[in-house]
Amino acid sequence: MEELVANLHLHTRYSDGTGSHQDVLAAAMRCGLDVVIPTDHNVLVQGMDGYLRQDGRTVMLMCAEEIHDQKRAPQKNHMLVFGANRELATFASNPQNLLDQVQKSGGLAFFAHPFEKAMPFFGETDITWVDWDLKGFTGIELWNGFSELKEVSPSLFWAIFHVFFPATIPHGPHPDTLAQWDKLLAAGNRVVAVGGSDAHALRRTFGPIRKTIFPYDYHFNAINTHLLTPGPLSGDLNADRRMVLQAFRDGHAFVGYDRPAPTRGFRCSAQGEESGVMGDTSRLRGGVTLQIRMPGEAEVRLIQDGAVVKTWHNQEICTHITNTPGVFRVECYIRFLGKSRGWIFSNPIYVREG
Ligand SMILES: [Zn+2]
Ligand SMILES: [Zn+2]
Repeated sequence: MEELVANLHLHTRYSDGTGSHQDVLAAAMRCGLDVVIPTDHNVLVQGMDGYLRQDGRTVMLMCAEEIHDQKRAPQKNHMLVFGANRELATFASNPQNLLDQVQKSGGLAFFAHPFEKAMPFFGETDITWVDWDLKGFTGIELWNGFSELKEVSPSLFWAIFHVFFPATIPHGPHPDTLAQWDKLLAAGNRVVAVGGSDAHALRRTFGPIRKTIFPYDYHFNAINTHLLTPGPLSGDLNADRRMVLQAFRDGHAFVGYDRPAPTRGFRCSAQGEESGVMGDTSRLRGGVTLQIRMPGEAEVRLIQDGAVVKTWHNQEICTHITNTPGVFRVECYIRFLGKSRGWIFSNPIYVREG
């Protein structure tokens, strides 16, 4: 399979970001991405989808949307909607109805930044997801770059420190988000995890210094979603959009923090009577072998139904045979800037009975 590196959940001038779609594409090209998915607030921007080609490389831009109920107080429940064939923000006041409309229009829905803290000194409230009993969502945003800034900045001092040293921000997905994901998986749901940047390229003034904080280039080298697709981008916009959306739908993806070292090349697969990759279901007939291929040295944890069942250190290939059903996913941690930090979070392989 082909691997496409995608950065998703970002804002342009069409909502509260400062860059144009051309700026986003140019930054994506500089950072070696294959796909960028802007998600402006409550607007599905038309006519911007397309490609940037340079020096034999191609980046595709595909607009999606981040929808929320603007009348709700306090603000909660931001939903990322990909691939819908129409504007759906008008349904925001009723999240179940919104999800039904997303399904009707052929789209996918992910709950954005499901758990986050407020950052009052920057005027940022927490926009946690609160309605967990809804039906028909595709998945959750497991790791969000901008939410994590709120998490690791307990005071104005730390927020400003992080503005100037953004590489110190990422540590991993919010523990409550990981726990909620495992809980949903344990209840028998298929839930796809994606990683989002929430890039805005905000402009701020610090005394005499005027600075673009967390520019697109910063985010595009940070938390990306790596998609496994049947082939490379073909240049046929409709076909490429369909292929990318299908990879999201199937959970053929992992979340990678690409700054410490590129996560390109990570694989987690299952071999049994049939074989599968992340996001697939494998039938337990006698046993299933899980195989993990690492793109570099790290601590690798195999998690079955929310509990660590095996850990490896600095091993290129890790294997585990299971004779019991379960939901298996992989977390990898890497040393970077003096700490062990989250590096790779795979989508699950669902090993089912029979
Ligand atoms: Zn949001
Ligand atoms: Zn956002």
